Amino acid sequence: MVANRINPKTKKTISILGSTGSIGQATLDIIRANPDTFKVKALTAGADVEKLYNQAIEFKPEIIAVSDKDKYPWLKDKLSDLDIKVEAGVKGLITVTNLSVDFVMASIVGAAGLLPTINALKSCNTLGIANKECLVSAGDLFMKSVTEQKVNLLPVDSEHNAIFQVLDRQNKDSVSRIILTASGGPFRSCTIDEMSRATTKEALIHPNWKMGPKISIDSATMMNKGFELIEAYHIFDFSEDKIDIVIHPESIVHSLVEFFDGSTLAQLGTPDMKTPIAYTLAWPKRMVLKENSMDFNSHISLNFYPPDHQRFPALNLARESLKAGGNAPTILNAANEVAVDRFLKKDIKFLDIIKIIEYCLNSIPFTVLNDIEHVLSMDEETRKVAQLWSV
Ligand code: MG
Repeated sequence: MVANRINPKTKKTISILGSTGSIGQATLDIIRANPDTFKVKALTAGADVEKLYNQAIEFKPEIIAVSDKDKYPWLKDKLSDLDIKVEAGVKGLITVTNLSVDFVMASIVGAAGLLPTINALKSCNTLGIANKECLVSAGDLFMKSVTEQKVNLLPVDSEHNAIFQVLDRQNKDSVSRIILTASGGPFRSCTIDEMSRATTKEALIHPNWKMGPKISIDSATMMNKGFELIEAYHIFDFSEDKIDIVIHPESIVHSLVEFFDGSTLAQLGTPDMKTPIAYTLAWPKRMVLKENSMDFNSHISLNFYPPDHQRFPALNLARESLKAGGNAPTILNAANEVAVDRFLKKDIKFLDIIKIIEYCLNSIPFTVLNDIEHVLSMDEETRKVAQLWSV
């Protein structure tokens, strides 16, 4: 990697929410290689306090926070000789997001990221959104905040980053549809019977992408793509019927935009999150990331075919939740988070994940959510129902 000078006079200041996850670590890899361009001001982690400690020692931010309060005393003690403010809990995350920075990488996993990410909109110019659950659970409210705070919202998710790159230079009114590509996950070619016996180990092995456990399971059920449909709806403001999903096992075409004249533009790249992360960090310029260039001499083939809704009902559950609006997407997200967690703890079988989500969507009455507090209480209520579900 070669150092880039976005602004030779001042460094771009960065906060990373969720710095110990896969997106957070990849962001720090890019910053590490470009010390003249970026300065880390704040880091937060869920519970991986040792990794957070090592990151703090290396990048010397002004402030850090760990979500798990039990880990605070150890962290505070270890950093007592350094001039780094240490915070904990939800309040600590909010304190961190009050700090003014140029760029926030919002990469907390799950609805846990909702409050800090919304709060971060008040104190940054640009926010890279990698926390898709925020947009699924509270998309309308989140986007309203983005508009009110006049923040540049840049999608980090590779599919949305691809669409953003294409639309950035095009007339949005000429778009007939956007097409999200999906690898199909580890069970792309499996029968329902095979999926019913799937172990956590099998579900965690993604064919193309290296990701954290939650999103890996979401890819195995294809709920990840269902969430990405809702994410695209909010970020790009296209109606649901203008957003399609296509299976593309190679994960090289990261998404496509089709125009009224029949032209389709795509963004291609190796399946490595460093490319979309670097795009958001450097935007509106670009930075050098040589190791990620494609080798077109290696006989690349690109395949596309339609998704199988019978084997992957998550896609329709997500689309129907988006169409229903109100609390449906919030229930979808919270039920999925609990179900994935129960599957990872070997408490339920793979196909039970979808059964739990369907049960929650069918048993919790429809309501409209007017504010974030209402979203959070619906999230909590759904978690209780999903936790109690049994075969
Ligand atoms: Mg994605």
